[in-house]
Amino acid sequence: MIDDKNIFKTPISEYGEFGIIKHLTKNFEIRSPFTVKGIGDDASVSDPKNKKVLLSSDILIENVHFNLAYTPLKHLGYKVVIAGISDIIAMNASPQQILISIGVSNRFPVEALDEIYKGIHIACKHYNIDLIGGDTVSSNSGLVLNVTAVGFADENEIVYRKGAQPNDLLIVSGDLGGAYFGLQVLERENVAYKSNPNLQPDLSEYSYILERQLKPEARTDIKNLLKDMDIHPTSMIDISDGLASEILHLSDQSNVGFSLYEEKIPIDNQVITTAEEFGINPITGILNGGEDYELLFTLPITETDKIKHNPNFSIIGHATQEIKNVLITKGNTQIIPLTAQGWEAYLNKKHTIK
Ligand code: ADP
Ligand code: MG
Repeated sequence: MIDDKNIFKTPISEYGEFGIIKHLTKNFEIRSPFTVKGIGDDASVSDPKNKKVLLSSDILIENVHFNLAYTPLKHLGYKVVIAGISDIIAMNASPQQILISIGVSNRFPVEALDEIYKGIHIACKHYNIDLIGGDTVSSNSGLVLNVTAVGFADENEIVYRKGAQPNDLLIVSGDLGGAYFGLQVLERENVAYKSNPNLQPDLSEYSYILERQLKPEARTDIKNLLKDMDIHPTSMIDISDGLASEILHLSDQSNVGFSLYEEKIPIDNQVITTAEEFGINPITGILNGGEDYELLFTLPITETDKIKHNPNFSIIGHATQEIKNVLITKGNTQIIPLTAQGWEAYLNKKHTIK
C-alpha cells in the first residue's frame, strides 16, 4: 500500500501561500483558444467566441470520496480533473478549462502536493485542458479538492437530461461496473494490509478494474464519434453515480419511463469474475456503484441502424410513456421496478466519488 506522506518532508510553510501557488502551477501551459488570461491575476479571462459557456463543480473530501491509504496522490489529481470534465462532456460540450481549489493540512508536505499537481498536469495535457485558477487554503483535518470545469458549445450542440421521448433507445458507452468492483478489491486489500503490513498481494488479475477505479478516463471522444455518425442524442448524462440513479435522472427530467434490459448491460469479464469472488451480483454493483464516467444517452429509434453495430455503444433499453416509471427486465419474464439505490448508497456509504 502507498504511504507517500512518510517519504517526503518539506513543510508547506517553507514556501508560503504565494510561493506554493507559483511552485505548483509553474509547469502548466495555456493551450485553449478560449483562454485569454490563466493563473496569476485576481480572475481568469476567457473569450467564449460566440459559444455558450458551461460550468460545473465537484468537491472531493478525504475519507468521504477518497481514501489515501490506497489512492496514490498523482492518481487523485488525475481523477479530480476527470470528475470535472466528465460533467461538461455529458452536456455534449467541449471541456477547455478547469479551476482547482485545495484545502490542505500541515500533515501534507510540499512533495505530496507536487504529486497531486503532477496528476492534474498529466490530465490537463492529455485532454488539452487549461488550469486557469483556483484557491489554496489550509484545512484543519483532511484534504479537500474542488474542481470547477469550464466548457464551450454551440447552442444547438448542447444535450440536456431533459429531452428523451417515449420509444427512444437508451444507450451506454463502454462497459460498466469496473470502478465499483475495483474499489471493492482496494478496500479488501486495505483491510488485509492493516492486519499484516508485510503482505505483497499480486493484483495483476484485477488490472482493468483497478485502473477503472484509480485512473478513470473521460469520454471526450464520444462527441466527435456521434457527430461523425450524424447522431444527436435527445438526452444525456454521465455515469458518476450508479446506473440506477442516472436513469432515474433522465426519467425525471424528460418525463418518460424506461425499460432496462439487464442482459444487454455491457460488462467486462474481470467485473464478472470479481463480482463472483465477492458474492455480489454484478448488476447490483453496476446499478448502485458508479465512477465509470461513461455516457448514458437516448436516441430516436429511427437511429437504430447507425448505432447497433458500433462496438463503442450498447443499446440497454428504451424510453416508455409510463412517466417516471423505470422497470428492469431480467431474462424474458421477470420485471422489477428500479429505485434510486445509487443515490441512497451515495448518502449512506463512504468513498463514492460523485
Ligand atoms: P487572491 O488572494 O486574489 O484570491 P490568490 O493568491 O489566491 O489570489 O491566487 C493567485 C492566482 O493563483 C490566481 O490566479 C488564482 O486563481 C491562482 N491559484 C491559487 N491557488 C491555486 C491552485 N490551487 N491551483 C491553481 N491556481 C491557483
Ligand atoms: Mg485566493
